[in-house]
Amino acid sequence: MSLVTKCIGLAKRMKHRYEARLKARTPVYLSPVRRIERVSTPDRVVAMTFDDGPCRMPPSPAGDWGDKPLTLCLLETLERFGARGTFDIVGSTADNYPDQPGKHGSASWGGLRYDHYPDIHHDGEGGALAAPELVKRILEGGHEITNHTYAHVLFGPKALVYGRRRYLGKFEPVVEDLDTLHRLLEKDHGYTMKLGRPPHYVDRIEKGLSSYDAYAVLGYQYMAASFDGAGWLPLATYEAEVEATWKPLEAALSADPDSLRGQIIFQKDGFNMARRTPVADGLARQLELLSAQGYQVVTVSELLARSPFADVGPGHPAFEAARDLAAAGLCPAFRDNTIRPDAPLTRGELAMMVFGWEAAPHRVRQVRQGRPPCSDVPAAHPYAGAIALAAEAGCIPAGQPLRPGEAADAAFVKDFLQTRYGRCPALPGSGPFTHGQFLPILAQAAL
Ligand SMILES: [Zn+2]
Repeated sequence: MSLVTKCIGLAKRMKHRYEARLKARTPVYLSPVRRIERVSTPDRVVAMTFDDGPCRMPPSPAGDWGDKPLTLCLLETLERFGARGTFDIVGSTADNYPDQPGKHGSASWGGLRYDHYPDIHHDGEGGALAAPELVKRILEGGHEITNHTYAHVLFGPKALVYGRRRYLGKFEPVVEDLDTLHRLLEKDHGYTMKLGRPPHYVDRIEKGLSSYDAYAVLGYQYMAASFDGAGWLPLATYEAEVEATWKPLEAALSADPDSLRGQIIFQKDGFNMARRTPVADGLARQLELLSAQGYQVVTVSELLARSPFADVGPGHPAFEAARDLAAAGLCPAFRDNTIRPDAPLTRGELAMMVFGWEAAPHRVRQVRQGRPPCSDVPAAHPYAGAIALAAEAGCIPAGQPLRPGEAADAAFVKDFLQTRYGRCPALPGSGPFTHGQFLPILAQAAL
């Protein structure tokens, strides 16, 4: 392994450790857009996502593949195993100029200012705009397509790794970029995307707004991943890179054959930093390992249809209510895709559960205008929009402090549901209530 590769690997591990610590400190809020990393399911099902394609260039090294497009090689391999992939595609990087190639083997390999797929000065050999035949072929095979943005430009700054990269920076251009690819797929392929993943997972757009707000406008869920299929990291040899795509999977499955249940595996439909495509040869081995343990590889939407949440699966007393509420456009889950059935229900959360999706388009205006919905909830608070709508609907008294973090007692719940739905089912006592207790009550009132 070269020194550069070792450093990249080390930096990545440090970043993960830092992110895990940050995650533990960051408060979690209910959100219409959930970050889907994995779901809770008793079945041996798993999803594979392939970023940055479609790619008309052949695998590198080509080996037995000849000049077959990389995307087609992946599709044929998946289909040989009866597997369905999720292709997280781009529209076109052809307008990402002027630019110059970055250092081969580094994070900027594809370009100093922008990313280019499949490669710099080869933008016409990939993406949905230039390769409609591959998009069509993906859909014909029953695979899923998700929105990895039209031009793969960062939403916001990421100084540490991509200091010289251009970024969109404002909310409108981010939504416009996502919508351009969304409309292209609808117009040219009659296909509606339901999930998105930001370039390089950069979420922050402008003050107080993030990719979650952009996805809320489009009605998307945020597709993350929980298992790294490698393939992006250059190693000393191609053989070592191929081995890195399946070795960790083999180790995880032999330690616990159930460990991959409900997980989303991250892969690339494109070159790694060394301009090689180990996924082309590693994929079959990954699929062999999964098949041997009885796993079915399904699309991310299929995974979510079976079990939408990370902590509560079919069979849990709160599962059906939470699933039905989410399907009906309410907001029963936290941003990390948990239900947290034992958490106490607060007054702010009740407003968010009921008005969360409806408030999403108003939130941008609200954050910019800086007008708080009541004296004890700031304008940029994640529940501010929902609280404003709840006050407008008369569910909470307007012009008074809400005390959003306080437990919702029976009187508060009763008034709220009665005003909103004209009914309130019998409550189990005077409160406080847990989320697990409240979700079936809300489902009874709202659905
Ligand atoms: Zn990407």
